[in-house]
Amino acid sequence: MALGDKNDLCAVCGKKTNAFTRVKLTDGFLCSTCKTWCSNFVQLRSMSSADARAHIAKTLQDDSIYPSLVPSESVGKYLVVFSKERLWSCMVSKDETPYLFSFDDIINYELLEDGACVTKGGLGSAAVGGFLFGGVGAIVGGGLGRKQHDLVQKMGIRISTKVPLMSHIEIPILTTETKRSGMLYSSCKETALKILSLLDQIMSQQGQKEPSSAVSSADEILKFKKLLDEGIITQEEFEAKKRQLLGL
Ligand SMILES: [Zn+2]
Repeated sequence: MALGDKNDLCAVCGKKTNAFTRVKLTDGFLCSTCKTWCSNFVQLRSMSSADARAHIAKTLQDDSIYPSLVPSESVGKYLVVFSKERLWSCMVSKDETPYLFSFDDIINYELLEDGACVTKGGLGSAAVGGFLFGGVGAIVGGGLGRKQHDLVQKMGIRISTKVPLMSHIEIPILTTETKRSGMLYSSCKETALKILSLLDQIMSQQGQKEPSSAVSSADEILKFKKLLDEGIITQEEFEAKKRQLLGL
């Protein structure tokens, strides 16, 4: 009776899911293959079937344009910026789906050490132009009234975004316990400061007009038509995207 139960099918590709490897969505399941098309940052368990379809349509689109993008700036794999397209991505690796955020997606960001905020950026317009950081030297010392411990277990940068289901993403920089006085800590801190200063630059360019896209609306529509043909988006979602691209 349970075999071929409609409820066992993947909400995105429609194939039967494996009970051990599938992901539970709020109203269904996502198969392990479709899961590989989700960003590591997305809050999978809060997703509905429609969210999953929209998210995967976006990552597939990102995946197709990614090879043609040329980074203008980057800090290792942690943060890659494409200033011409006003896009950025983080924790980019070969085997993962890159998720391209727009400059305008960032709300704010903070440097965390062992879960405590060391410094913040992007708090409204005050952050524009590096006001809060004032360059690399202006970091607020390790928390007010909090004892500076000799050891640190974790350092990372948390970015709050306007993207639904990706409202908090964290870039891990230090993941093993180390001494504050050591080389590893200093080099991680240096990396963190570079990332913060790049995020600062991105935020100072928010709200500026998007450059006219080199990709025509027709090309875009064709891409979404492919997603429709592959059953990844619905006819309804396709029509909505088409209207949007044609400015109707
Ligand atoms: Zn699937």
